[in-house]
Amino acid sequence: MRKKDRAAHPPASPALAVGVDMGGTNLRAAVIDSTGQILHHLRLTSPIVDPLMGRQVLLQAIQEVTAQAGCQLADLCGVGIGIPGWMDRVRGELVFAPKMAHWQGVVTLDALRQEIGVPVYVDSDPNVATLGEVWVGAGKGSRNLIMVTLGTGLGCGIVVEGQLYAGHHGMSGEFGHIVLAEGEGFVCDCGVADCLETQTAGPAIARSGQQAVAAGEQTLLRDLAGGQAQNVTTASVFAAAAQGDPVASRIVQRAGQRLGSGFATLVSLFEPEKIVVGGGMIDLGELFLAPIRRSMSERCYLIARGYVNVELVPALLGDRAGVIGAAALAFKSV
Ligand SMILES: [Zn+2]
Repeated sequence: MRKKDRAAHPPASPALAVGVDMGGTNLRAAVIDSTGQILHHLRLTSPIVDPLMGRQVLLQAIQEVTAQAGCQLADLCGVGIGIPGWMDRVRGELVFAPKMAHWQGVVTLDALRQEIGVPVYVDSDPNVATLGEVWVGAGKGSRNLIMVTLGTGLGCGIVVEGQLYAGHHGMSGEFGHIVLAEGEGFVCDCGVADCLETQTAGPAIARSGQQAVAAGEQTLLRDLAGGQAQNVTTASVFAAAAQGDPVASRIVQRAGQRLGSGFATLVSLFEPEKIVVGGGMIDLGELFLAPIRRSMSERCYLIARGYVNVELVPALLGDRAGVIGAAALAFKSV
């Protein structure tokens, strides 16, 4: 509940910001101090079905979490918002967000700033996660770093000389949407066939498992899925691989090898100090990281010849990276 006693509020200070992590079906918001500590957080799980509702839920979440932390919007140096898509920083409009398509052309940065009343910054969720990890997570202290998030999609944030490399319109880091090799011609959400994401992210691994079962291959996946190909999930492929199932292992190895080619390309282009790997799929640990690391090392001559040694490290902040990194946008700490 909002406290009425203003004397109980911290003095107006630039030392607090709200970070918001917007997903397709849930929203997290947190009040964060200038050291990256979460003072208070909340999570809403109601699906946002239209932009008006979305704006309302967003504003309500920001107001509520601020009040619950015992302060007011005016006490904040700003609000940062991570979204699963792109806000064109030149035009200030949402341009592409498959999970928030209804926001497109409706929500503008100017409108959000007017409604919230403090400076508002918006960036893609991989970029804000990267900022969070660089600020207080696995990338702390690194000035040249790339973060790749592996989950249902494949996201990427690039930090060059301590600054997030944004691109002219703020749309850099589309690592999941590069095409490194012809595949099955599967068309990605972005409209292009054979994007790296369609070959390596969680849904691709599940799809490969489903195809193996449907093709009658002898695999533990069949038992785990109750004999039904469509029941094979990403988690069951990794569970079977962990038990040494050759079919599941082949699928995981192939995805890791393709991802490693992508990582090798990133290293060849940017020569980062380290690559932080985040997202739901890092729970699989070395089972997945080992083939990525091996392929990256083989396919990047800078590593293969021993000129550089790029660390591949798991993210540390988990699902807190979004709100912490969004607040970092406001603090401009990175
Ligand atoms: Zn794509």
